[in-house]
Amino acid sequence: MNLILLGPPGAGKGTQADLLRKRFGWLHISTGDILRRALRMGNPIARQAQTQMDRGELVSDEVVLSLVESRLKEPDAAGGYILDGFPRTSAQAQGLEAALHRLGKQIDMVLYLDISAPMVLSRLLGRRVCPNCEANFHVVNRPSVDDKRCDRCGTLLVQRDDDQPETVQRRLKIYNEQTEGLIDYYRSRELLIRIIADRPIDSLHEDIASIFHQRKLA
Ligand code: AMP
Repeated sequence: MNLILLGPPGAGKGTQADLLRKRFGWLHISTGDILRRALRMGNPIARQAQTQMDRGELVSDEVVLSLVESRLKEPDAAGGYILDGFPRTSAQAQGLEAALHRLGKQIDMVLYLDISAPMVLSRLLGRRVCPNCEANFHVVNRPSVDDKRCDRCGTLLVQRDDDQPETVQRRLKIYNEQTEGLIDYYRSRELLIRIIADRPIDSLHEDIASIFHQRKLA
């Protein structure tokens, strides 16, 4: 199963991708996580992208395309992958198509997590992340056991710089201007499935899994 998760920041793409990874064993490729990890390791290309990331703006298409293509080439992508946070522009969608063609791979489904703007805001503003293992929490919807530390590795949780209110508004504007058009792009290719994402994590996950089962994709 080769899947793209599409939807605004805060729709729950990362959370759902993580649940799907655990259940079906597919590789979770999050361009945001790859960029943040590269930044922590002092990668010079990621360092150039840091200003855009902190401001909630998009990193150049060339940089993300080359990161994704090299990740897709690795052997662990052979059993299926989930793209989370990519593509985000039509140039990225076209570049992805070309890269998949070169690699002899394809996309089986684009799952669009549809969610209202107020819900997105509350999710992003309440999100807390582990700076060590990238686990995601939410102060109300998914608190960690002791509210402050990561359940997986015990590191102190933080709020991402780009989850601050002003940056969140900028990210949503950029999503509307540059990413939302991909819904029609993938609908016209008959790959798009829309699912209402304004609901509890587990029930959304079960509905996603049953879509895959119905279509015999899992
Ligand atoms: P995310 O964790 O997906 O919200 O990504 C965090 C930040 O990384 C974004 O605000 C962008 O600055 C950058 N980023 C992640 N994925 C992409 C992408 N596909 N295209 C451009 N920039 C990206």
